[in-house]
Amino acid sequence: MKRLRVAVVGYGSGGQATALLLSRDGHRVEVFERVAQPGPVGAGFLLQPVGLRVLWELDLLDAVLAHGVRIGRLFGETAAGRAVMDMRYAELDARLFGLGLQRGALFQLLDAAWQSGRCLHAGNAIVWVDAEAGRLVDGEGRVHDGFDLIVVADGSASSLRAQIAPAVLDRPYPWGAQWCLVDQAQWPWAGELRQRYVAARRMAGMLPVGTRPDDPVPRMSFFWSLPAASLDADGGAVEPWRASLEAVWPEAAERLATTAVPQGLAPARYRDAMHRQWYRGRAVLLGDAAHAMSPQLGQGVNMALLDALALRDVLRSGEALPEALARYQADRRAHMGIYHFWSRWLTPLFQSDRRMGPALRDALFHPLSRLPGGRGQMLRVLTGTRRGWLGKVILPPAFLDRLAMDARSPLEACAET
Ligand SMILES: Cc1cc2nc3c(=O)[nH]c(=O)nc-3n(C[C@H](O)[C@H](O)[C@H](O)COP(=O)(O)OP(=O)(O)OC[C@H]3O[C@@H](n4cnc5c(N)ncnc54)[C@H](O)[C@@H]3O)c2cc1C
Repeated sequence: MKRLRVAVVGYGSGGQATALLLSRDGHRVEVFERVAQPGPVGAGFLLQPVGLRVLWELDLLDAVLAHGVRIGRLFGETAAGRAVMDMRYAELDARLFGLGLQRGALFQLLDAAWQSGRCLHAGNAIVWVDAEAGRLVDGEGRVHDGFDLIVVADGSASSLRAQIAPAVLDRPYPWGAQWCLVDQAQWPWAGELRQRYVAARRMAGMLPVGTRPDDPVPRMSFFWSLPAASLDADGGAVEPWRASLEAVWPEAAERLATTAVPQGLAPARYRDAMHRQWYRGRAVLLGDAAHAMSPQLGQGVNMALLDALALRDVLRSGEALPEALARYQADRRAHMGIYHFWSRWLTPLFQSDRRMGPALRDALFHPLSRLPGGRGQMLRVLTGTRRGWLGKVILPPAFLDRLAMDARSPLEACAET
């Protein structure tokens, strides 16, 4: 395998995993991150089996399992108590579960693991990528030259992706969310991602996300859906905000009682971006920069980790760079397409002012998910193991054995609640 000089733009989950995987393969990696003190943005997320598999490849699975919370069930209901979604990983495979994890935990574990060959230029925003020459220009006008490969992983609002290839689609979603971490304490649904809905106008979510290396207090990630315009207007006045949450989910409102509103809540905006071409010359897109989507399916971090692993694998093949990048693109697009499709179709059913779609969702989603064909399809999409409409991502048996070794099974965790 030829050792390359690689620039990675962006030190989010995708950039971190890429830096670690490629450094371990002996490539000379330099990361450029615009933030002066890189750290996680946002509260927590759900890692799917496909994302856990990448962490297993990185020898970080035990560490994330030690900090995260095994999630066996996703349960969503209307504020009136009607079940809309009830999915259990074990119904696909008894060894599978999701892992609720703090963003800070993943950031710290990936960061601590990247020591050998570490070269991080923090506070260095890249403004120009010369894909043919392998050259970067930063915001101060400095030129960084001589790269064999440039990995553009600057996130969903990427300012660089259009320099690599024109997007087929790149638009903001009209809805976003507010996020924060709260103490888990005696939360009654410890092994579940729980959501409450009022049509698609209101949605609250609570996901147990465990601890961080520097903080032993178990936390939960809270999610509150809002139109993007309200986020721009600071998320609304305090008392109406609390009253809205109380009406949707009193237990969640109680947990948020001491959270400052809106100062204690982080705003999140999403984009929908798609590229037919993911690379040009020596530059390649990775993570949200290549395929931003709404977080409705909870797949973005998982897909960014998978992108990093796929890139490492094609570089290992010894092919010339254009062929290797073409294979990376073909492989990842074949997996991603269906996730883009479903996230685009499902998001308005959960975050919009529409009436008919959400009413149909409330009436049909749960019954359809109980049909054998429907349930299998939904669980495959959820776990990240659907590839195209009918294909599957095959998880390595040794990885599945490691998951199975985990003492407390997700079904037991659900039964406890
Ligand atoms: C509300 C919400 C909930 C989510 N929940 C989940 C979930 O449960 N599960 C899941 O898998 N995913 C979830 N996601 C999606 C997930 O957060 C993203 O898909 C993931 O973080 C993408 O990683 P990335 O490395 O591509 O980009 P990012 O993590 O956004 O990292 C991009 C990095 O690039 C840096 N950067 C930007 N521009 C430049 C520049 N010009 N020069 C240098 N550096 C730059 C940024 O500072 C940042 O550090 C959620 C997203 C949101 C918004």
